[in-house]
Amino acid sequence: MPDWGAAVAAGAAPSGLACSGRRLAAEEPEGPARAVRAVLQTDTRTNPMGESRAPRRVRADAAEPFWRRKSLDAMTQAEWESLCDGCGRCCLIKLEDEDTGVVHHTDIGCTLLDGIGCRCRDYARRQKRVPDCVRLTPEAVRTIPWLPPTCAYRLVRDGLDLYDWHPLVSGRAASVHEAGISVRGRLSGNEEEFSEEEFPERIVAWPGLRPGEEEETE
Ligand code: SF4
Ligand code: SF4
Repeated sequence: MPDWGAAVAAGAAPSGLACSGRRLAAEEPEGPARAVRAVLQTDTRTNPMGESRAPRRVRADAAEPFWRRKSLDAMTQAEWESLCDGCGRCCLIKLEDEDTGVVHHTDIGCTLLDGIGCRCRDYARRQKRVPDCVRLTPEAVRTIPWLPPTCAYRLVRDGLDLYDWHPLVSGRAASVHEAGISVRGRLSGNEEEFSEEEFPERIVAWPGLRPGEEEETE
């Protein structure tokens, strides 16, 4: 039987998105692993895919939208918050193999993740409700290795443009769902519906894939 271990603090940087880590000493499927969780929405300083497929960012120009001409550190809080596409992928339970360091996504949502709206059900109190939920900050974006390849923070970090389904580009919040990027309709359930021993059985590839890659692997 897997031996799920104690919680591990996932560093919350001064600004941005945070992630929470929970050490799950379990092998794969029975080995050591660690679950990692991230906030769905982000605070900036005080709060909070497809590199080869995403279009390249245009050079800084005053006429360009903020995500093309500003670094993560330079964004206002409102800009930072709006950069989140609302996909919910970062709020999936993740397991890290303690031997290899490889992080695996599951299709199990954090207890507060709304599988339809793909948002946190209690964002304001998320860290009280889920102590290992960690804020995403510019520093966190630079250091967290498991952000989904579609994550807008990761794209900007890597100097890439947003996809056309991002709400900032499309002008519609629903476009992230319509494009099949969000977790809507893809959760097997929330974490309280599973025993920790069942977590490894729920490892899936799609949260770590870029648009188009999922079809290629089928
Ligand atoms: S507490 Fe909320 S923001 Fe944090 S991981 Fe869970 S659903 Fe996401
Ligand atoms: S863009 Fe998606 S993966 Fe990135 S922080 Fe927002 S909800 Fe999480």
